[in-house]
Amino acid sequence: MIHRSLASCIFCKIIKGEIPSYKLLETEFSFSFLDIGPLSRGHALVIPKYHAEKIHELPDEYLADVLPIAKRIALAQGVPDYNILQNNGKIAHQEVPHAHFHVIPKPSVSDDEG
Ligand code: 5GP
Ligand code: ZN
Repeated sequence: MIHRSLASCIFCKIIKGEIPSYKLLETEFSFSFLDIGPLSRGHALVIPKYHAEKIHELPDEYLADVLPIAKRIALAQGVPDYNILQNNGKIAHQEVPHAHFHVIPKPSVSDDEG
């Protein structure tokens, strides 16, 4: 169940199952799924189940849930190197205005192009 949502938000719709996604993990506070435009194989997004554009607008319990989940997803990808990225606001390159964390595996060049 999503705790605060915005009807027009695509990530709120993904949490509610109104837009399909490749789901990875779900907790009381977060929902994780594969990015539709992956920068590398396994590129995932971890999003709080609370609609807020930027992370400073999130209650702490949502924020606290995200990093342990991002860690689990990064480990499950099976490559030692990865990026955790997070953008707040258009000037900072945020395209979807629902706070989210990218987990981007960085395979060696021989494994993948990323
Ligand atoms: P941002 O630039 O806001 O940090 O990243 C937004 C990310 O959301 C992008 O990497 C984009 O590919 C991803 N994205 C946008 N719309 C969808 C969607 O409908 N489904 C999924 N799985 N990912 C999406
Ligand atoms: Zn939302």
